[in-house]
Amino acid sequence: MLGDSLWMAAAAQPNTWPFQWTLLVLAVCVIGILSFLAYRWVDLLQLSFTAEQPRPEDLEHLNDEIYEAKKQRKIKRTRGQFFKRSGSWVSQLLYIVPGMALAVLGLRKAGLGDGTIYTVLMVGTFIVNMLISKMFSLWNPARPFITYNHHHGRTWTTGNMAWHAWGIITWAVPTYFFYAWFGVSGWQGSVIFMVLSQLGQLIFFIYSIKKKAIPYQQYDGLSADFKKNLQTYLQSQGIRDDEVGIIQNMGMGPNAFATSITGYYRQIVVTEEMIKGFPDPSNPKFVLKLSEDSLEAVIAHEVGHIKNHHVEKSVSLGLFISAVVTVGVYYIFGKINPSSFYFPKDMSQQLLLYWGQSLFNVMLVYPLTFIMIGFTRGNEFQADTHLLETNGCKKGWEFFHQIRHIAPVPNHPYWDRCNATHPAPEVREKRMLDWEREHCQPTPPA
Ligand SMILES: [Zn+2]
Repeated sequence: MLGDSLWMAAAAQPNTWPFQWTLLVLAVCVIGILSFLAYRWVDLLQLSFTAEQPRPEDLEHLNDEIYEAKKQRKIKRTRGQFFKRSGSWVSQLLYIVPGMALAVLGLRKAGLGDGTIYTVLMVGTFIVNMLISKMFSLWNPARPFITYNHHHGRTWTTGNMAWHAWGIITWAVPTYFFYAWFGVSGWQGSVIFMVLSQLGQLIFFIYSIKKKAIPYQQYDGLSADFKKNLQTYLQSQGIRDDEVGIIQNMGMGPNAFATSITGYYRQIVVTEEMIKGFPDPSNPKFVLKLSEDSLEAVIAHEVGHIKNHHVEKSVSLGLFISAVVTVGVYYIFGKINPSSFYFPKDMSQQLLLYWGQSLFNVMLVYPLTFIMIGFTRGNEFQADTHLLETNGCKKGWEFFHQIRHIAPVPNHPYWDRCNATHPAPEVREKRMLDWEREHCQPTPPA
């Protein structure tokens, strides 16, 4: 029988599993390359979509000329991102695939031991990450989700350097030792270390935000009326006065965010630009300035994040994904002989683990971005629901209506799906206006 003989032939092959593991690596690479290409295709869709968008007619402080200028700048920015992101991804790949292999061969020839080479590769990764971190956020198993959206400002600052070094060291150093001590089962140590590292970073983040925030009751730029209303709302939500504050000089424009780890350690902050008003740099006729009601609505949205434990859930999802990848890396690259990947046969397994993790980082950055960003967008929708259900008549739409004056050109829906951490502002504005018309008196403008 044909079926029998095929089965016999397969069974007669001795020790076929390493071949299958390398196939798995190949599959990850195919997924990585396809998702990189899909992201670039969506960039191109965004470019042609943007060029066709007419000026929205409901934005009263925006004329044709300013809209056109904003649109052209957006097209230019999208085009720039297309090249920067392509360049950074390809250069990471070149650094990892031929680069690291050549470095290992060269440094071995120069007489360096594998432990030293491991350290050299860590330094090399640090430099590459620093150079391209501005172009595209890197995924790294030790990198906490909470900081994904907070990489503003200059690159070579102590904070940014410390943060990148921390990301590499807290992954690579434990892996080196856990593998040496426990072999493939060392993944358990690496995962525990990762969990502790991320919890540590989250606690440190909340601590530093708390230190910078001025409790809203002590902030001069808010009226007594506003403070009283907000206090009533916060009390109904079980949130203390000192858990809501104003933050200065964050360099993130008019914004607000919430961060928490359990109900005992949490903080909501609003940037000072949000309260004082934010002049649109590319439109002299427009200053973003919210009414006090609308500011309260923004805080109600942040309360929604706290009440639904969105930060804890995001960090947990990020950790879960990182843990799965770490287990995969240990099992795949901790077992195969390095020669399967064209490395020297007698190379230490840790160097192959390091290389494998780096390869997975670059291959998985787009698929994981897609998953995490979809999760985040769902959370934002849920926080808006909380705002509507608990404080829905406070003109939450006003913030989005004003933000749309600053960024009026809509995105292609696919681009939003791949890149946006929040639902589109025009969608959020409409949702809130519709809600308000149905539930509130007096009714808002049509
Ligand atoms: Zn939010």
